[in-house]
Amino acid sequence: MFDRFERRIDYLRISVTDRCNLACAYCRPMPAPPPAPQEALLSFEEIAAFAACAAELGIRKIRLTGGEPLLRREIPVLVSMLSSIPKIADLSMTTNGLLLPRFAAELKAAGLRRVNVSLDTVDPERFRDLTRGGDVREVFFGIEAALAAGLTPVKINCVVAESPAEPDAEAVSRWCSHRGLTPRFIPRMDLSEGRFGVVHGGTGGDCRRCNRLRLTSTGLLKPCLFDDLSLDIRALGHREALLRAAAGKPERGTLGTTHAFHSIGG
Ligand code: SF4
Repeated sequence: MFDRFERRIDYLRISVTDRCNLACAYCRPMPAPPPAPQEALLSFEEIAAFAACAAELGIRKIRLTGGEPLLRREIPVLVSMLSSIPKIADLSMTTNGLLLPRFAAELKAAGLRRVNVSLDTVDPERFRDLTRGGDVREVFFGIEAALAAGLTPVKINCVVAESPAEPDAEAVSRWCSHRGLTPRFIPRMDLSEGRFGVVHGGTGGDCRRCNRLRLTSTGLLKPCLFDDLSLDIRALGHREALLRAAAGKPERGTLGTTHAFHSIGG
């Protein structure tokens, strides 16, 4: 499908939970808001049915996000349901890596292609500060598990304040090059201020060629991260919600005042 600005919309990011086992300062406010109630979450059957409808309309890439997607119970079952949709050519996940040692092999067997792992610093103390208590060694173990399971290429998502020339980013870059990994540098975003930039080494943040839609874990379809339009797929029906999303997608992002990163997965 195409939007009003002739951009091909072929990428769907699905947030499967707003819960996370880290609390990155730029993402999760404190005190942490209560997670969405279990009964409000889309079931795996609802997500798979929506993805199948989206594939009929031209979606070819799906990325699972959160919060932390590996906290959603039995997530390999959902991966298996999505990977069996014939027109979906690429199924990936963005994770903080902490639970990858437990799930990597099972995710691969279920049909997951590859993962992006978040790593903003390789310095243990800085990591503990940035994530409010995390242990960077657990991310390293997660990356190793993803490589061992063949969830490749493993890409590293590194959030920067301004540029990849910052000390933490340069250290992540060196760490990646020693391991043959590809870092991507994501400028820190602020929904309420409408601040965002193009991802270095990726396609995100470039409105001119934006190809994505986002689905929240409670069934709101969002044509743009920096816009308040949300379409309830349960109320509208899958096809109608998708068509309205493509028709309502703005030319470029402005502000996002009705949602937060931790519930939409960036
Ligand atoms: S701000 Fe909106 S249109 Fe621009 S890249 Fe992000 S999601 Fe796409």
